Amino acid sequence: MACVSFPYDAPVSQTLFDRASLVTPGGVNSPVRAFRAVGGTPRFMVSGSGPYLTDADGREYVDLVCSWGPMILGHSHPEVIAAVQEAVARGTSFGTPGEGEVALAEEIVARIEPVEQVRLVSSGTEATMSAIRLARGFTGRAKVVKFAGCYHGHVDALLAAAGSGVATFGLPDTPGVTGAQAGDTIVLPYNDLDAVREAFAAHPGEIACVITEASPGNMGVVPPLDGFNAGLKELCATNGALYISDEVMTGFRTSKAGWFGVDGVRPDLMTFGKVMGGGFPAAAFGGRADVMAHLAPAGPVYQAGTLSGNPIATAAGLAQLRLLDDAAYAKVDAVSAEIRGLVSEALAKEGVAHTVQAASNMFSVFFTDRPVRNYEDAKQQEAFRFTAFFHSLLSQGVYLPPSAFESWFVSTAHDTQAVERIAAALPAAARAASEATE
Ligand code: PLP
Repeated sequence: MACVSFPYDAPVSQTLFDRASLVTPGGVNSPVRAFRAVGGTPRFMVSGSGPYLTDADGREYVDLVCSWGPMILGHSHPEVIAAVQEAVARGTSFGTPGEGEVALAEEIVARIEPVEQVRLVSSGTEATMSAIRLARGFTGRAKVVKFAGCYHGHVDALLAAAGSGVATFGLPDTPGVTGAQAGDTIVLPYNDLDAVREAFAAHPGEIACVITEASPGNMGVVPPLDGFNAGLKELCATNGALYISDEVMTGFRTSKAGWFGVDGVRPDLMTFGKVMGGGFPAAAFGGRADVMAHLAPAGPVYQAGTLSGNPIATAAGLAQLRLLDDAAYAKVDAVSAEIRGLVSEALAKEGVAHTVQAASNMFSVFFTDRPVRNYEDAKQQEAFRFTAFFHSLLSQGVYLPPSAFESWFVSTAHDTQAVERIAAALPAAARAASEATE
């Protein structure tokens, strides 16, 4: 990090960060926001409009994070804001069923064919945690297969990371997760069907489910190789396990029907979040009706939430989903392709080794010229170049995710003017990346 200087300051953000650090661990409410991977002062944002964010120092940025995915229509979309205002005027939470949650569930079921029934929750973490509990309750088995580099929220059992070798029993990856909580997690290399086959062979009748990001975005964007998801589905089916596709990030973003709309592989259970909440805390899990029937109060597997199906969150989510028609996805896909092309062109001009990987409109830039197929590949990149690239763009008013291992996100609001701002900032950023030293 010593090679990167911060030639611009953010005094108001710095003051806020100092205040925050006194009362909140690390000064943030979610670790990646703290800029630890890239250094410098995290920007405290005060408003968002279309493709732009404005920070507490009054600087405007083209936003390529989009709240880590949800803001696919850009910030403060007038129809989403109107739906929220209309809902909030009627009250903020009732703790009873309401029509908004029925309408949102119907919208999800209508869009995503494998989802016959759905349960609303408040975060992606809750969705994956509940889906796994349900899979265990349904199958009567304990073990869960996950892939290194896939993130499914901070569920204890899913924070286990791989040791070396294949079919490694998960070791707790963070203090506070006990061996018992992680001991039933098997962590395997992504995109490796043989490893999954071996795990099923080593643990006959013990694996409740395989959970995977439908197309991973949490080690950077690493799409499944042809046939990988279909192979997982088949191995699960032949071994009596459930195939859980985590679409918290890809759901309603990579197409109208998320990644299922791209590869057509039919999961037993799916999880959603981000886009479906329209910028509010709303998430869901759903799938086969016979599996969902095991959920309380219909069945014995308990799951609940005081704010589940919250009327404001459901109004925002529904308004956003109803605006996401084919034309909207075509627009997001096109602007994503344009930005990818510009980034690649700028880096190539400076001779910076890089690989841009995309899954529909989600994409990320790896600072390596080799294709990235799993977490080990992703870690081989020259992340120090990203740090220089990031800070150059930040200082020029372009806001990237503050980590080389994240997806970039765009929206329907990223118009020609926003793209031109990015294009103007790229040459200096590419030069900074090329000059960076470890
Ligand atoms: N699953 C995936 C694929 C995610 O990307 C995330 C969050 O980034 C989660 C689950 C957890 O969602 P949340 O942060 O809403 O708990």
